[in-house]
Amino acid sequence: MSQPMASAGGAAPQPLPGTRPFWEGTQAGELRLQLCDCCDTHVLYPRPHCPACGAEAVSWVRASGRARLYSYVINHMPMPGWTGAMPYVIAVVELEEGPRMMTNLVGVPPDPKHLVLDMPLQVVFEPRGEVMLPLFKPAAEAAR
Ligand SMILES: [Zn+2]
Repeated sequence: MSQPMASAGGAAPQPLPGTRPFWEGTQAGELRLQLCDCCDTHVLYPRPHCPACGAEAVSWVRASGRARLYSYVINHMPMPGWTGAMPYVIAVVELEEGPRMMTNLVGVPPDPKHLVLDMPLQVVFEPRGEVMLPLFKPAAEAAR
């Protein structure tokens, strides 16, 4: 029940009933979060009640897709099912709305010289098995 729904770089995540709106969102090219109807806290990962105030009224909303690099590791060990380039960047990004999520970075060399904490990122979607997985790339305004 508490496993991460988007295992970074691993086998394709299996949509569960509670996360279906999230995966329908990625299919539609949208990053979706839950928003508490009571206290306006953005919620990720999906759950039936607000972790901040306990309210059972959370709605799905579209996130901006903007985030900042919170932390990362450069992974040299492919996980089962990984078919992408090696090494690759496993990152924790902080969404503009507040929640943090584990993801992969694309469009940037897996090199600390290019990976600046707090750098602006933008969500992109790549097919992984049956689902579209949300990944992040440097935001256009970060181009130097
Ligand atoms: Zn709340």
